[in-house]
This record gives sequence, structure tokens and C-alpha cells, in this order.
Amino acid sequence: TTSLTTSSQSPAATILERVFGYATFRPGQQEVIDHLIEGKDVLVLLPTGGGKSLCYQVPALIREGTAIVVSPLISLMQDQVQQLKESGVKAAFLNSTLSSETQQSIIESLKAGHLDLLYVSPERMLQFSFLQTIKQLSLALFAIDEAHCVSHWGHDFRQDYRGLSTLKQQFPSTPIIALTATADTATQSDIVSQLALTSPYIFKGSFDRPNIRYRVMSKYKAFEQVSKYVKAAEGSGIIYCNSRAKVDDLYARLYRQGYKCAAYHAGMDADEREMVLQQFLRDKIDIVVATVAFGMGINKSNVRFVLHHDVPRSIESYYQETGRAGRDGLPADAMLLFNENDAARVRQWIEQGDNLTQTPIEVQKFEAMESFAEAQTCRRQILLNYFSQYSDQSCGNCDICLDPPKLIDGIVLAQKVLSCILRLEQQASNQYVIDILRGKALKRIQDAGHDQLTTYGIGKDKSDSYWHNIINQLIHQGLIRVDITAHAALRLTEAARPVLKGECELKLAAPRLEFKPEKEKKTL
Ligand code: ADP
Ligand code: ZN
Repeated sequence: TTSLTTSSQSPAATILERVFGYATFRPGQQEVIDHLIEGKDVLVLLPTGGGKSLCYQVPALIREGTAIVVSPLISLMQDQVQQLKESGVKAAFLNSTLSSETQQSIIESLKAGHLDLLYVSPERMLQFSFLQTIKQLSLALFAIDEAHCVSHWGHDFRQDYRGLSTLKQQFPSTPIIALTATADTATQSDIVSQLALTSPYIFKGSFDRPNIRYRVMSKYKAFEQVSKYVKAAEGSGIIYCNSRAKVDDLYARLYRQGYKCAAYHAGMDADEREMVLQQFLRDKIDIVVATVAFGMGINKSNVRFVLHHDVPRSIESYYQETGRAGRDGLPADAMLLFNENDAARVRQWIEQGDNLTQTPIEVQKFEAMESFAEAQTCRRQILLNYFSQYSDQSCGNCDICLDPPKLIDGIVLAQKVLSCILRLEQQASNQYVIDILRGKALKRIQDAGHDQLTTYGIGKDKSDSYWHNIINQLIHQGLIRVDITAHAALRLTEAARPVLKGECELKLAAPRLEFKPEKEKKTL
């Protein structure tokens, strides 16, 4: 549509400079653009902020006809169109927020060939009348943003994306570029097959987010831990919980402590949610306590921390959610609170899920997440390896690299825990076991006569968090199992016997120090 052939630069480079004001392409962009210009299908896997938009915006201006961009996010569409118009590009969007007159006039300019780019929602894309209209036109390309939504393997399947699988058949000569920030290989090949991409050129950028510090803390008193954490944190952040009830509860407690915070979940009205998002974007609130519903489209560059109150269901979700921190490239923190009970609960949800064919995959995905949380090696390495971005280097910016675990002789520690569990007839949950170990003067212990047990107080010298950590390691090593059908009672396994008898060796990682606030910060 635009002819800029005055310089020796490629047309793409000229447009990059003149229209978008950038001197050079980022790694990968040029190749993606070249393939699209030639009419090839493309799949782009780049993390958020990686520069996916230009990959279709530049060819949209070079190829004949209008580029149709499918995006699930109304606010993002509006932002992008706004920015494009400011750069002098003929762009528009069509969605349900527009009056029918406005929609009609956009359709008219589309038909007249006056648009370089048209952004549409997937529902609109699949409307019969819309399809009929664009079949009459010359189309530059289709760009499918957030393309992982087409896949069940992804973390955000959307029914209305499924219909996009007929595009290729209906428009065999129009190239399709699918874009996503999801790097999971199963999702990747599913996108290719769902959208019927024809031997696509695949560009996968680096998924490393070096400015994000990944940390995992063993969760034992969630609210205290969250409270300490946010007190020490700088700037704004997101706290993810696994249920609406937890969001409401945690939000209320933080609010009472004086934080400028808000709750966000799918149980709230759309208006209310939009208001929370806007206030967060404008720094009117510091903390959003949210379910995964607080997702795509949070285009805020200065999120300083993402705290996971509960373990996510997959590494992709974890990566996406933590990825909302530090878009500005400045140091940011990703903290995960993890314990075995949560893990057991998620596993149960997955296993009780209604989708039988899906379950084994979801279980595997969750197992990968669990092993990330339990790892004693560099977290970033595990993350990147999961996305097939192999690296044998430790990162220097995760809890493990910063404070490598030391191995200690665990036999006596284990014996204290195991015998305490036995004395409690394998009926007690981990907190109760710890209360006994630490010899706490609690009424319920006295009422049960458990202050008379020989194990009462044998672990006085260590903190609650220390014991939680030890118990978790014993669970990981298969000496204890959590019975979620009996109020998470701790049970011994066969493997516990030789340890109790002192017939074997047992190495444990020295528990990490309890989280210490790095800097005190006033409560707002
Ligand atoms: P994504 O869609 O992958 O999340 P965007 O397309 O929104 O990322 O790009 C993120 C930011 O990077 C935007 O501000 C964009 O203008 C900028 N950007 C993209 N490509 C380049 C480039 N070649 N040079 C400079 N800035 C770029
Ligand atoms: Zn590391």
C-alpha cells in the first residue's frame, strides 16, 4: 500500500524508520517480516514486550490490501489502533463497543480499500456477513494475536478461537501469522495444526527475562508471609490466588492493614474489573489481589513484583503471570509461596476435572510446575529448559543461585518429625505436628493431652518455618505422605522405617533462612 523506494534500504527497514521511528529491527523481526511479505505463513513465539506487533504491522503496510488482526482484547485493540493512527497508519477496530453507525462506516472504508489494518475480535471475524465482506477484498494477511487461545494445550483456551481453524480453507492464498508469548512446544505444534498453517516459518525468541528474580518460599503462614513481603516490596505488584474466596479474603486483610489494594476476579462486574485495571495502570492502587482472570492485556511496565500466594497449574501459567513484572527491564521480583498441601489440592482439582482426555497432560504439566517449586537447582534454568531454551548456566538471579542450598545430615531431624507423627497416631496435619515438636502451650494440645507425649518440645530450638521446610523435604523424599482425604494428615510410608531405626543415611538441604525484608517500607 505504501511505496517508499527512495533509499537503498529494504522497504521494511524504511517503514520501520519512517512510520515507527525505530532504527533497527530486533532479532527475528526482519526474517518474520520477509517471510510474510513473500506470502508465507509464520508462527512467532516471543515473550510479552518482545515486539510481536511490528511483525505484522510492517508487512501490512507493504503487502497489497488490508491486514486483518484478530485479537481477543478490546483494550489492547484500542491502544494499538490509537498508536497506529498517531503514526499516520490507516487503522481501525471493529468490536461491540462501537455504535452500529461507526461500525458501518468502518465497513465502508474497509470495502473501499482505505484501511491498512483492521483489528477485530474473534467473534466478529467468524460472523458470516463479515467473512462474506472480506472475501470480496484484497487481503494483505491475517494476524492471529494470542494464538495459544486456539489450543487446549495452552493455558487460556477460548472457544471462539477454535472457529479460526477454517480461515486457511476459506482464504488459502492469504498468509497467516500466528503470534503468542507461550513457548510450550505442545501448544506450539497445536497452533500450527489448528490454524492449518502451511509449512510455517517459526521464529522463537529468547524467553529469558533476566531482570526478574525468581524465588520460592515454603508456605507455612501465608498471611504473615504475604504481609511481610508486601511491606518490604517496592512499587506496585500483583498477588495471584487460586480462588475467588481467597482473593476476597486476602484483599480485605491487606486493605485493613492500610494498603492501596483491590481485588480482581471473574465474579466481579465487568465495570468494576475495568475500574480496578485502570486504577492499577494509573498507579492509583499499588497491589491487585487477583485470580488468573487478571490476565492478558495488563500493559503496565512498572509492575515490581508478582507474588503467587498459591501454586499455579502449569509452568506456562507461572511464566505468563510472573512475566507481568518488570516489563520496563528494571529489577523485579517473582515470589512463589509453595507447600505440599496446596500441591495436593491442585492435583485433586485436576484429577476431578471433567475432561478425561486432558487430565494426563494437565497432570504432567502440574508435575513440572511442582518440580520447579521443589528444585534445588537454578530456577531460571528449569524454566528455560522447560521451554526448550537449553542452558547449562546458572543465572545468578534466583533464590537458588543467590543462596545455594547446603546439604546437612538429616537423620536426627527426620527422626524427630517421624516419631512425632507416629505418636500422634498419623492423624495430625503438619502444623499440629510442628506445634507439638515446638512444645507450644496451646489449649487444644493440652485438651488432647498431647503435652504429655515424649516428642512434645523436642524441636523447640527451631522455628515453624524450619520444620515446615524439613517436613516438605521428607515428603519429597517419600518418607511422609499427605492424606488429603483425612484433613491432610501426615502418614509414614515404608521408607520411613529404616530412617526411624537409624539404619540409613539421610541428606537434607539446610532450610533457607526465613524471608527477611530487605528494606522496611512504610505502610500506605
Ligand atoms: P508484544 O506484542 O510482543 O508484547 P509489542 O509489539 O507491544 O510487544 O512491543 C513492545 C515494545 O517494543 C513496544 O513499545 C514496541 O514499540 C517496541 N519495539 C518493537 N520492535 C522494536 C524495534 N525494532 N525497535 C525498537 N522498539 C521496538
Ligand atoms: Zn538461578
